[in-house]
Amino acid sequence: MQFSAVVGHEAIKKKLISNASEGRVAHTRLFAGPEGCGALPLALAYVQYLACAAPTPNDSCGKCSACIKMAKLIHPDLHLSFPMIKENTKSKGVSNELITEFRDCLLVNPYMGVDNWLDYINAGNKQPKIYVEEASEIIRQLSMVSVEDGYKFFIIWLPEFMNVETANRLLKSLEEPSDKTLIILVSEKPQDLLSTILSRAQLQKIEAYSIEECAAVIHSLVESTNEAARKVSEIAEGNVSLAKWLLENQDESDEQLDLFRNWMLACYQYNITELINQADSFQKKGREWQKGFLTYGLFMIRQTVLKNHQPSLNRLTDQENGFLDKFARFFHPGNYAEISTYVNDAILHIERNGHGKIIFFDCCILISDVFRKEKFAKTNA
Ligand SMILES: [Zn+2]
Repeated sequence: MQFSAVVGHEAIKKKLISNASEGRVAHTRLFAGPEGCGALPLALAYVQYLACAAPTPNDSCGKCSACIKMAKLIHPDLHLSFPMIKENTKSKGVSNELITEFRDCLLVNPYMGVDNWLDYINAGNKQPKIYVEEASEIIRQLSMVSVEDGYKFFIIWLPEFMNVETANRLLKSLEEPSDKTLIILVSEKPQDLLSTILSRAQLQKIEAYSIEECAAVIHSLVESTNEAARKVSEIAEGNVSLAKWLLENQDESDEQLDLFRNWMLACYQYNITELINQADSFQKKGREWQKGFLTYGLFMIRQTVLKNHQPSLNRLTDQENGFLDKFARFFHPGNYAEISTYVNDAILHIERNGHGKIIFFDCCILISDVFRKEKFAKTNA
């Protein structure tokens, strides 16, 4: 991948290139930014730049043999580590077992999030990990000479999926990597990394995309109208991975609106039987769907509050506008922060692989309580 193919992040690209041309390549780097911010594409563009036989002042050449192999993710000195599941008892828990699947998934969508990847390998509800065996494999690869006489590159995607044992095994390598070796940790949750890992890596923070940048990336990945790309970028708050998923599942948007309407009604009416039924259906969907649905809900709640104060909104369907009219009395600035915190927390817990049914049901009860307190206050006013 070339730098030119990565949308935005111009200052970071410039810095990486100028460091590289001055020969200042840190052994261990940490690219840290939220899901769908382009951290992994930046890491891929950076290693391609360093491997390129004829880099220009702004980018890799894109034509030499190293660039062509890097673009296909098959460069022999590129080692990719990522969260995986052990598919059966024969699995050794090393990334190489799923490297073909990982390349295919990443080539289609370099901005992918972990849920895209886990859905791709049908991980279901299994807990993904970077296993201790993968740490041993990295150490083994580190001790070998590079195949093409240049750098050896190790990209560890989502190191937060390493447990303490795995991280500890890697530590020494991070501190004293062999010559001409570059290790890039690409993390969405650097706060979950051991401080001993953090202290060994040079940090490169990567900000989330703006709505406009996210829409531009979506355009480059999926055929879409400006309106549609912008709307999903807004719902996903600049997370390319989620925006892409929302766009590709738009047929479901009417269904999502219906489900969201029923959800809020059941919360408002404190209809426990209905909420349990909804939690059961929620549990049956994949994590990506669960996250997409809650994010969409968050967007609709925000739009309802905005509409009360700023009626001329675009990018909404007629059905959605109808919903906002009817539900305007449910949501207001006084309960917006509390309700959206509960939905946001639910998204976070889903991301941490919590149990969908329990998370959803807890969220329902908390939201119901907000409505109940309001009704109680009104009755006693
Ligand atoms: Zn090149």
